[in-house]
Amino acid sequence: MKKLITALALAATVTAASPAASLAVQVQASSTNDLAKQDSYGGVTDADKMLTQEGIKYNSFAGSEVPYRNGKPEGIVIHETATPNATAHDEAVYFNREWMNIYSYVHAFVDHTGVIQMMSPDNGTWGAGPQANDRFIQVELCEENNAADFAKGVNNDAIYAANLLHHYGLQPDNAVHDGQGTIWSHHAVSQFLGGTDHTDPDGYFAKWGYSMDDFYNLVKYYYDQQGTTGTSATTEKPANKPAATLPKPTGTKILMHDALVYDEKGNATDAATKKAGTKLTLYGDQTIDGRKYLQIGLNQFVVASNVEGKLRQIKHNAYLYNANGYRIGSDKLYRRNYVRTYGGRVKIAGHKYYQIDVNEFVKVGNF
Ligand SMILES: [Zn+2]
Repeated sequence: MKKLITALALAATVTAASPAASLAVQVQASSTNDLAKQDSYGGVTDADKMLTQEGIKYNSFAGSEVPYRNGKPEGIVIHETATPNATAHDEAVYFNREWMNIYSYVHAFVDHTGVIQMMSPDNGTWGAGPQANDRFIQVELCEENNAADFAKGVNNDAIYAANLLHHYGLQPDNAVHDGQGTIWSHHAVSQFLGGTDHTDPDGYFAKWGYSMDDFYNLVKYYYDQQGTTGTSATTEKPANKPAATLPKPTGTKILMHDALVYDEKGNATDAATKKAGTKLTLYGDQTIDGRKYLQIGLNQFVVASNVEGKLRQIKHNAYLYNANGYRIGSDKLYRRNYVRTYGGRVKIAGHKYYQIDVNEFVKVGNF
């Protein structure tokens, strides 16, 4: 078996001052989670598919997987990349290219735009030393430069973690104080299991006034929310059920772009347009005439791209605009980064935009 390393090659950058730290932007932990709960989930992008689309060869980790000691993951280790200004996409490209040289690999990279999954969490990988690699899923959070993006990043991280707990039949249990449970930090692995000496993501979280306890609470929030919607169908009295039954709810998501409501044949209905920002309960998806739809009610569907979006690369540094076409602050999206766009192009005051959040737009010409 290949040497299981305990250190990330990128850790050398950990001593470099982060721009976020020098700005000394501090937000209260409670407000980060409050902010996060307003954000929609960026969803999971498969690295294999993404890289192939970009003409980059996917270097599969297959053959190097670490078998889990119990045959399935026992929890999740939360990491932080310690690499300022590197997006999940940057990290995915780098690790895909270098993992055989740096002896380090993880299951997923997460940033404010979403999750890029590098390999199936059904097998272990090389994230936190020999004590943890055959037990846990390894997830890296990328560094962000402002409080809003930090909240979006932890939100994506927490929803991804909650989904994984459900998927593998695990209960949320904070392991960082007692070394027992399903939600670990790399720091807790160092402290309770050994074989590694990293302390992430504590230092990075602290810059934003955030902690693993806060993160755990956010995971628990989403885990419980999904659990509740998942069981409501079975606890409901039969008499209250409509004649035709809905499939089991699969979760909730925020609609990012105004959307027409379609019936099961893909015909637009008279139902009122669903407004961007509406929280939808979802009942799975369906392809109708080659187009993907999400079911939102009995015989009610919306086009999936209004919720799930599509990753597009920024070609020119781009400002953000609101729904009235006014520029939002001076923050820019930088070229070569990927952002998720929702629904089709929209025209605001004569310009064409893609929507990237409930009230954030980027000019089409920047993609
Ligand atoms: Zn780590």
